[in-house]
Amino acid sequence: MASQKGHIKKGDRVKVIAGKEKGKIGNVLKVEHDGKLIVEGINKVKRHQKPAGTKRQGGIVEKEAPLHVSNVMLMCGKCVKPVRVRSQVLDDGKRVRVCGKCEEHLDA
Ligand SMILES: [Zn+2]
Repeated sequence: MASQKGHIKKGDRVKVIAGKEKGKIGNVLKVEHDGKLIVEGINKVKRHQKPAGTKRQGGIVEKEAPLHVSNVMLMCGKCVKPVRVRSQVLDDGKRVRVCGKCEEHLDA
């Protein structure tokens, strides 16, 4: 099975296509090594935090839990919808990601 791993990078705008957060859009804050992503505002979980000394109060904090990369699709700014990503090698040998629909380059 072809892996989508590597198609999504930090700072990308993605749409969730599966799971309880389906349909939501957010920016990728972090890509983890195991193919999981932290997406801003998506998949938030409440965690109990213990107080630490005098600086940090205990309580409940909300934090994004990782999502698997297969549950999101990259948004194309031109198509304004989630698209399949292809990679293309330019004349100078540089590999870029392009939108599978409109062929817009997705790497700045
Ligand atoms: Zn496009």
